[in-house]
Amino acid sequence: MEYTPEHMSDRATVLHVDLDAFYVSMELRRRPELRGLPVVVAGGLGNRGVVNTASYEARRFGVRSAMPVSQARRLCPQAVFLESDYHYYSVASKQFHAILRDFSPLVEPAGADEAYMDVAGTEQLFGAAAEVAARIKARVNAEIGITASVGVSVNKLVSKVASDAGKPNGLVVVEAGTEAAFFAPRPIRELPMVGRRTAEVLTSLGIRTIGDIARTPEAALVAKFGKHGAELRQRALGIFDAPVVAQRGDAKSISRDITFDTDEPDGDRLRAVLRSQAERIAKELSTSGKAARTVSLRLRFPPFETLSRSFTPSVAVDVADEVYAHGVALFERAWAENDRRPVRLIGLGVHNIVERARQLRLGETLEADRLQDTVEALRDRYGGASVLRANELQRNPYRHRDGDYIPPFSAPKLDPAAAPDEEVREAIDGAHPPADWP
Ligand SMILES: [Mg+2]
Repeated sequence: MEYTPEHMSDRATVLHVDLDAFYVSMELRRRPELRGLPVVVAGGLGNRGVVNTASYEARRFGVRSAMPVSQARRLCPQAVFLESDYHYYSVASKQFHAILRDFSPLVEPAGADEAYMDVAGTEQLFGAAAEVAARIKARVNAEIGITASVGVSVNKLVSKVASDAGKPNGLVVVEAGTEAAFFAPRPIRELPMVGRRTAEVLTSLGIRTIGDIARTPEAALVAKFGKHGAELRQRALGIFDAPVVAQRGDAKSISRDITFDTDEPDGDRLRAVLRSQAERIAKELSTSGKAARTVSLRLRFPPFETLSRSFTPSVAVDVADEVYAHGVALFERAWAENDRRPVRLIGLGVHNIVERARQLRLGETLEADRLQDTVEALRDRYGGASVLRANELQRNPYRHRDGDYIPPFSAPKLDPAAAPDEEVREAIDGAHPPADWP
C-alpha cells in the first residue's frame, strides 16, 4: 500500500490513556505503607506464579511483567509479593473507562487499564486534546486515587509510544507532522512492533533507534522480515492508519494473552497462566451477564509460529472452571502436537458471546454457577481476599484482615527516584499479529 500524508489526520486528536503500573498502584492505594518499596503483583505466588505488574522500584531490579515469580524473587528477594486481586482492580477499571466516555463517545478499550480515544469535534465542550488529557488525568487521580499517563498525537501508534515515554504520570503531546522526528531518537524496543527477537535481528544490522529503521531501505528490511519489513518501516515513520473504533458494552470477544520475556518451557506454569486468564475472562462475562459459545487458545512458539485453536461446546460457558477446562484441553492437544516446545505467548479467549441463560442445563448441576455467584457476592461485600478457594489458601502465605492481604515482610527503603521502565511489549514478529494491536 502506498502511504501519503492524506492517510494521516492533520490534527493531534487521538489519545492513548494508560494507568501507571495499574495493579501495583491499586495495591499501594489501599496499602500506602508500601509506597517506595519494590512491590510485585503476581497471579499466584508459588513457583508456578507469573508476574502481572511490578512497581517502578522493582523494575529497577529487572523484574518484568510475564516473568516467573521464582525469577522475580531471585532478582529482587526483598520485594513485597502480593497475589493479584482481579475483583478489586476491575471496579477501578470500570470507573476508569466511564471517566473516558465522559469526554468522547469514541473510546476504544485496549485492556483493563488502557484505552484509545479520539476527541476530534469535542473542543467546544472540553477544549483541545491536550486539555482533555489533563482533565482526564486529574479525574483519574481524584476519583480512583492512582495516576495515568497520556499520549496525544494524530494516531494510535504514536500516542501509545508517547504515553509510554511519559510514564509515570506523564502527558506527552506529539504535534501533527512531528511523528517521525519524535520517534527518531528513541530505542527500537519502544516501537510496539519490535519484540525481543526482532530487536536482536535489528541490532545485528547496526540498527539501534527507530530513526535508524526509518533510514534503512525498505528492501533490506523486507529481506530480513518478509512482508512485515515494509510495515515496520512505515511504523518507524509514525504512520498508522487504523482509526479509533468505539466499543461499548457488548464485546464480541474477550481475551487475555501474555508474551513471555523468556520462552516458557514449564507446562504447570503455562496452565497456571491459563487458569488466571480463565478467571479474568469469567469475571468479565459474569459482570456483563453474558456467556460464550466458543473458547479459543492462542500459542506462539519462537521464532514466528503462531497457532490458534478453538472449540464450541454444546452449551455456552460462563464460569472460570468451564473456560479453563476447555482452554486447557485445547492447550494440551496443541502443545503435545508441537513437541511441548517452550512457548513465547499464550492467550485464552471466548467468542460468540450470548446472553447468559439462567435455566438449568440438562445433565448439569448449577453448583458451579451458585458457587461463583456466592463467591462474587461475598467478595463484593467483604473485599477480594475474603473468599479464597481452598487451593488458593494453600499457596497464599498471607493472612488477611478486612479483605486485604497482609504480607509479612521487612523490606529496606529504596530511592523512590525510580526510572520508568519499559512495559512488556507484544512482539509482532510472527505471521499473525494480534488483531487488537497496538
Ligand atoms: Mg498500564
